Amino acid sequence: MRCPYCTNNNTRVTDSRERESGEAIWRRRFCPQCKKKFSTHERVESISVVVCKRDGKKELYHRDKVLGGLLRACKKRPVNHLQMEEIVTNLEQNLRSREVKEISTHEIGEYVMDSLKNLDNVAYLRFASVYKDFKDIDDFIQEMGDFAKKDRSREMNNE
Ligand SMILES: [Zn+2]
Repeated sequence: MRCPYCTNNNTRVTDSRERESGEAIWRRRFCPQCKKKFSTHERVESISVVVCKRDGKKELYHRDKVLGGLLRACKKRPVNHLQMEEIVTNLEQNLRSREVKEISTHEIGEYVMDSLKNLDNVAYLRFASVYKDFKDIDDFIQEMGDFAKKDRSREMNNE
């Protein structure tokens, strides 16, 4: 496991615990190179869920797709990979508890947006611009107005 701080590949596991539900293993790690500590949630198995798309088509759920969207939204933002993994892991936990293993892309989008909202406004808005069905530019501007942060527009224009 790579150290998220210095990218050293040799990190040590100092503590390990399985989650109550058994789908993920929590590990506390230590990097001997930069002496930093971090923790990881490692997945044990993948899940079989059907995703219903806006156009009515259905496809199998892919963790990488959700994570890919997050990576794009969080590019150059202070959201680390572990936090993104956490968002997806929590989403999957929610999916596992469902009787009908189906979720709409809309629902996934809402869930991820809610999670991002608490972490980083710019990442949230980037994600929202992709996943929300903005009818016109006014909707988008209104959405942006809800998160009036002074550095926001500058950050978004840098893309
Ligand atoms: Zn390190």
